[in-house]
Amino acid sequence: MINLIVPIDIQERLTLALLNAGTREIGGVLLGEHTDEGVFRIHELTVQPQGGTIVTFVRKIEDSLRQSLRNFFHKTNFEYTRFNYVGEWHSHPSFSLTPSTHDKQSMYEIVNDPNVGANFALLLITKLQQGKLIGKVYLFAPGFEMVTGHLIMEGISK
Ligand SMILES: [Zn+2]
Repeated sequence: MINLIVPIDIQERLTLALLNAGTREIGGVLLGEHTDEGVFRIHELTVQPQGGTIVTFVRKIEDSLRQSLRNFFHKTNFEYTRFNYVGEWHSHPSFSLTPSTHDKQSMYEIVNDPNVGANFALLLITKLQQGKLIGKVYLFAPGFEMVTGHLIMEGISK
């Protein structure tokens, strides 16, 4: 089972970004820490108007995004096995939190892209429901079916 932890500061950033975006879909790249077997904690994320994936990032070589990645690797002392790209996120403001066919295709493209070099990637789909941040997380790996993971909103009791 894959667990993705969303810390409070990231929840706040996502909530604000989703509020500002309204009915527009937004997304970006998730950078995180591998804290334990099957457990990832989001450290940093990028917010872009369209669901900008790591693939579009690698292809377009967007300077600001490259800088975010560089800063992140620098801050985390280049411990690539612990701190790295963990996946993608985007919003489904008006839809369910289930990945579309296109979402799945993009994720398999990412994990099979040698330029990305990721052997797995998580997809976080999120939205606001009556002002409350909700989400679902999915795991993609080359040659495997999509697996639903467990999303943990840190600091919020269930
Ligand atoms: Zn989607």
